[in-house]
Amino acid sequence: MDQNLLDPKNPSGPVTVRKLKTWVDRDLCIGAATCVAIAPKTFVLDSDAKAVFLDTTVEDTDETIIDAAKGCPVAAIIIEDEQGNRIFPK
Ligand code: SF4
Repeated sequence: MDQNLLDPKNPSGPVTVRKLKTWVDRDLCIGAATCVAIAPKTFVLDSDAKAVFLDTTVEDTDETIIDAAKGCPVAAIIIEDEQGNRIFPK
């Protein structure tokens, strides 16, 4: 992978970007890569075909990242606000 990870120690998060805490449930992720298509600056697949966060995540808007979560066929991308309220999936 020639792209840099946002957090190499926690490649699938949780990561906090602006006011959103986001992570990928690696047990759920099936590598469908819908998230990569919707938010290519945020997500890439690692060698296990699990979604991980790129260090360019901040270049995608909150809306784009939320859209990526909504587009995941198995709802493996989880997003909370600063207070720990679940934004997606509800
Ligand atoms: S869309 Fe969902 S299942 Fe597909 S790679 Fe992204 S997190 Fe994994």
